[in-house]
Parts: sequence; C-alpha cells; structure tokens
Amino acid sequence: MDRYLGRMNDIAPIPMPGDPAKPERLRKPDWIRVKAPTSPAYHETRKLMRTKGLNTVCEEAACPNIGECWTKKHATVMILGDVCTRACAFCNVKTGMPRKVDVNEPQNLADAAAEMGLEHIVITSVDRDDLPDGGASQFVKVIEALRRTTPGTTIEILTPDFRNKHERAVEMIVAARPDVYNHNLETVPRLYPTIRPGARYYASLRLLESVKRLDPSIFTKSGIMLGLGEERLEVHQVMDDMRSADIDFLTMGQYLQPTPKHAKVIEFVTPAAFNAYAAIARAKGFLQVASSPLTRSSYHAGADFAEMRAAREAKLAKAAR
Ligand code: SF4
Repeated sequence: MDRYLGRMNDIAPIPMPGDPAKPERLRKPDWIRVKAPTSPAYHETRKLMRTKGLNTVCEEAACPNIGECWTKKHATVMILGDVCTRACAFCNVKTGMPRKVDVNEPQNLADAAAEMGLEHIVITSVDRDDLPDGGASQFVKVIEALRRTTPGTTIEILTPDFRNKHERAVEMIVAARPDVYNHNLETVPRLYPTIRPGARYYASLRLLESVKRLDPSIFTKSGIMLGLGEERLEVHQVMDDMRSADIDFLTMGQYLQPTPKHAKVIEFVTPAAFNAYAAIARAKGFLQVASSPLTRSSYHAGADFAEMRAAREAKLAKAAR
C-alpha cells in the first residue's frame, strides 16, 4: 500500500507497526507562526543590502521576524563575511574557511545606514578565529565609519567571544565607544558541550564583565535561547551570573531549529512562561528585559535602547535626590 497520501515532501509517512521509533519533531505552536514578508519596504531593504554587498544575520539565521523588521528598515548587518570558523549546533551560518576581510565593508555599511536614515544600528559578525584579533579591528573601523558618516545613529554591536584573545579585542572595541555592547551567552552552561562546543560560558561572562569595567557608560546586553532542554532553575542561575557581571539588558527568545541537522527543539516555551521569566529578571535588577517567543537579540533593538537609556537616566536622577 502507498503509505503517502500526497506528494512525498508535503505529508509525513504514516507509521506502520514494527517501524523503528523516530524522534518526533515538535510542531510549531500558533504563537510562533509569522507571515511571509511581502511589503515594498521589505523589498527596498533587501535591494539596498544587495547593492551595498552586505550580509545580514536576518537572512543567514532565517530569522522569523524578517518581514516585520525589514519593513521598518531595521536590519542586523553581519560583517567579516558569511562563513564562520565555528559550527554551533543552533546556528545556520555556513562553516568553513572565511574569505579575506573586505576593506570597503565599513564605509559601505555606513553609507547604507545613512541612506536608510537609521536611528539605531546593530552590527554582528561571524566568528573569525583565523584572524589574529578575531575581527575586532573591523568592528572598530565600522564604528568609526558610522560615527563619521551618520553621527546621529546609535550603535549596538553583537560580538563573538574572541576566544583566547578577548582582552585586547574588547579594549580596542570599547575604546571606539559603541552605545551598546552585546554578546550572547546563548544557553545554560550545562548545554555548552552540545550546543556551543567551541565556546566557554565563563569566558563569555568575563568578556561582558570586562566591557563594563573598562567603560561603565556602555550598556551591556546578553541573551539566551529557551527550548533547548534547559531547566527553570538553570535559567535563574544564568540571570544571577549576568547580574553579577553587571549586564544591563537581558533578552530571551524561543530557539527554532533552522534545519534537521541542527539541535532539536526540546520544548516550545509558552508566552506565559516567557512573561514569568521576564518578571523574575526584572526583580533581579536588569535595567531592561525582552522576553517572548519571537524575541531575538536585535528585535526592536532601537526602541529597547531608547527605553534602557531612559531607565538609566531615571535611576541616576533618583539616586541624586
Ligand atoms: S530580529 Fe534581528 S535578526 Fe531578526 S529580522 Fe529583526 S533585526 Fe534581523
């Protein structure tokens, strides 16, 4: 009997007695579904990225928010190419030997930001373990080009961990004075060996701590994905670790499996559970918290930055009274 009731790719085979048990792929709940991008503004952003030869993490990570963000002309630009030297189990970016650093990238990126009239920009990169400074000097050049070309744009950078070279890399970048320094812890320490094997949890925490020590005026930000099998108390512990590193802003979002080769979704965390985590995080003293199934570290980054700046000013004014 034909066990397929339609085209092979559309309908899963009906399990028959004696079939080996296959691990289930969880169905996406309704709160994760998003509309395909269609707006003219989305297409304009896409065209500009191509004209300037820029890569975006929005596309590389197959981000579910791309329709909304690009319609609002908010994109996260990925510098230093589109090939990463690591192979994290959650990430869709290609792994391999990256190409040469593009010397025109900082100015092209700054020109694109000016053309889009961006108030806030998020810059990230692939891991470049092949470069002596891990790519830190390219972050510096991008920040300098943005300051020259579009001085009103606030700058958020989302960096790799600069493994084994983070002290010098962080010093260089902090000296260039981005407004927000983001580095994601991604998950709880117990899951690092499977989810983020090339990185070290405490090294990432130390990196964020160094940013604050070197320049307390820079906002620090970090995020984790939920749904990878972490326990509630482990998430609380990560929050405590982040607070002890004086991190200002915590983001939490649902992990989505980009392809069947990547780590499986163990759980779709409900919106109510995301809200409960947010309440706990606020009680632990974060200046800003974003927590929802579709939260990504750069989602609504501009509005969140403005809120975080206002929250700090209110806090300082209260302390001065
Ligand atoms: S949430 Fe971030 S990565 Fe996703 S589309 Fe928006 S800007 Fe891009």
